Amino acid sequence: MSNTPQRYTITAALPYTNGPIHIGHLAGVYVPADIYARYLRMQGNDVAFVCGSDEHGVPITIKAKKEGVTPQDIVDKYDGIIRQSFENFGISFDNYSRTTAKVHHDTASAFFKKMFKDGKFIEETTKQLYDENAGQFLADRFVIGTCPKCGNQEAYGDQCESCGTSLNATDLINPKSAITGETPTLKETRHWFLPLDQYQEWLDNWIVKGHAHDWKSNVHGQVKSWLNDGLRARAVTRDLDWGIPVPVEGGEGKVLYVWFDAPIGYISSTKEWAERENKDWEPYWKDKDTKLIHFIGKDNIVFHCIIFPVMLKAHGDFILPENVPANEFLNLEGKKLSTSKNWAVWLHEYLEEFPNQQDVLRYVLTANAPEAKDNDFTWKDFQARNNNELVAIFGNFINRVMVLTNKYYSGIVPKPNNYSKIDEQTIAELKAYPAVIASSIEKYRFREAQGELMNLARLGNKYLADEEPWKLIKTDKERVKTVMYVALQIASGLATLSEPFLPFSSRKLQQMLNFTDVESKLSGQEFSQWDKIATRDSLLPAGHQIKKAELLFSKIEDSQMQEQLDKLEATKSANAASSNKLEPQKDIATFEDFTKMDIRIGTIIEAYKMPKTKKLMVIKVDTGLNKRTIVSGIAEHYKAEEIIGKKVTVLANLAPRKLRGVESEGMILMTENSAGKLIFVNPDEDGVEPGTTIN
Ligand SMILES: [Zn+2]
Repeated sequence: MSNTPQRYTITAALPYTNGPIHIGHLAGVYVPADIYARYLRMQGNDVAFVCGSDEHGVPITIKAKKEGVTPQDIVDKYDGIIRQSFENFGISFDNYSRTTAKVHHDTASAFFKKMFKDGKFIEETTKQLYDENAGQFLADRFVIGTCPKCGNQEAYGDQCESCGTSLNATDLINPKSAITGETPTLKETRHWFLPLDQYQEWLDNWIVKGHAHDWKSNVHGQVKSWLNDGLRARAVTRDLDWGIPVPVEGGEGKVLYVWFDAPIGYISSTKEWAERENKDWEPYWKDKDTKLIHFIGKDNIVFHCIIFPVMLKAHGDFILPENVPANEFLNLEGKKLSTSKNWAVWLHEYLEEFPNQQDVLRYVLTANAPEAKDNDFTWKDFQARNNNELVAIFGNFINRVMVLTNKYYSGIVPKPNNYSKIDEQTIAELKAYPAVIASSIEKYRFREAQGELMNLARLGNKYLADEEPWKLIKTDKERVKTVMYVALQIASGLATLSEPFLPFSSRKLQQMLNFTDVESKLSGQEFSQWDKIATRDSLLPAGHQIKKAELLFSKIEDSQMQEQLDKLEATKSANAASSNKLEPQKDIATFEDFTKMDIRIGTIIEAYKMPKTKKLMVIKVDTGLNKRTIVSGIAEHYKAEEIIGKKVTVLANLAPRKLRGVESEGMILMTENSAGKLIFVNPDEDGVEPGTTIN
């Protein structure tokens, strides 16, 4: 731990204002960034923790078009929701700005102009994808196609989210317009490019060679792989009407590429904060002793490790990031989180459904943080971690300490007698924790750090369970004073060390232990400072009055979890229903065509799954005419034993054909319900929607 105050600029990825915040964003970026910022402040550092809404993305204009409103309406709505939910969740930004703010438009324009004036861009007329029907160029998310690197068929014009590769729209194979679905044509247009290739060697020295050991291996590895592929010039302007106008001659009708403007948002946000706080913003971005740290998710690595640093370097006035601790992704109940598919736990909904339980979600997301690999959030794990860890360990220890101190001593910290060996060991362990937890936080290992915090709670729990003051009080009242004194010191250590992780519980515990009163008695000594736990003789001196016990955490019931699981089930069905796109009506069939088909009712009399196939079932059907074999692709939807005896509709005169060596004489008519399950034709069954076809 360093005791010299240090200046830090901490940025958290700017959220897109095309949807609210969900647990994936929190686990990947905002919770770890907040733990880090809170910890650094407690160490007496000078911290600017900034963020803001990213409001210029193409998804925003697409959403506005779909909903028939203006892009400004969309960003105003989500900026409001996001801002409020961050505040209620206790993310301790020093400033939260937005990229539609004037300060940002001015800052980004000036940044571009300086680079333009210094000749840092290449100007080029190239052919870009153009949607004739929509009458507009297709950049970034306006175009979807196959990724040339990994084959993902839903890659965007600026990036493949599957492999993380940064792309130009013209790189896509089989591009399609996201507006009309049409195949675009090529049309000439003039743009400014950032020649990333000219910075290849510099990046290689700075990151690949220079940060091989202190940057996370997932980040370092990705950068290395892009550099191996070779960097190419990248357009930083677009033919769009939503964004920051290109502020130079020839830029009419064009805007800055959103990934050029967005990271400059960190600088604008710092400016906005400094102005309000009467500070100078420049040292936070220009003093080489300032440590700049970007917290992001893995999909943003290319922008924060290649494009933004090249911009900062090319501009020339700015410092470079000290570290970019990007996280992997969090999944929900085994499936990828998705804003568009509503597969998420939304922060603003959580805050309503679990009032005053911000710390539980913070705790679970940190305990399960996708620091080195993708991880899964499940409601079962959420409940277990709350009930078995926060309630049963941390909460139980604190409750015992508070209740017993009030019961035996009317809430006055007792004067200890001589320490036993166990007492001395326990106090020594307590004093070691600040350094242990700090060391993990400083390495961006937040789940390890929080694990150590819980180990301190375990230490307290075990100490009380071993010493059993509630039994001793009958035989050795003097010994109980010492035991309770030691336990109170641990409770006090927990109150301070939990602040970065569990800020709401920490504050509540500090109030219960009446910290403010200790602080005034110790005149001049900062009480809640991290290091003092290791150095001060007593954290909670004898004679100090604490307050009444209150519960820090409460049990989460099965019924609450079931509600959440039901909500996810409903989302699943809704998605299945909307993905069942209706097939267009086929060509006209004449009455003669119809009478050619011999459709009859039959009864299934035998069935077995065809060996070595996934889908095929061999079914014997009594059609009245005869008993015949039909091979049907329903094995993933029905078990053989459950269909025997069922009446089904059969197309009896379909030309026989061999499937995997078995001759199939006819077809059983099937349809699909809204959950995507193939079912025998029965229009009255739940989930069979109008328009569903029979096959
Ligand atoms: Zn890809």
